[in-house]
Amino acid sequence: MPAAKTCPICGKPSVEAFKPFCSKRCADVDLNRWLSGTYVIPAKEDEPAAHENTPVSGDDDEF
Ligand SMILES: [Zn+2]
Repeated sequence: MPAAKTCPICGKPSVEAFKPFCSKRCADVDLNRWLSGTYVIPAKEDEPAAHENTPVSGDDDEF
């Protein structure tokens, strides 16, 4: 069982001052990822038709 954890961003040994990360840079990277995934709605690139207000005939999908 390893005593020191590794940085979840780059895999380097974590530093006490920035744990569980190895540096402030990696901490910022993780923070940005977390904030992005939480507060920013990702654009659906796979959506073929994003016309919410467009009437579609013969569509039985509720969502
Ligand atoms: Zn790192």
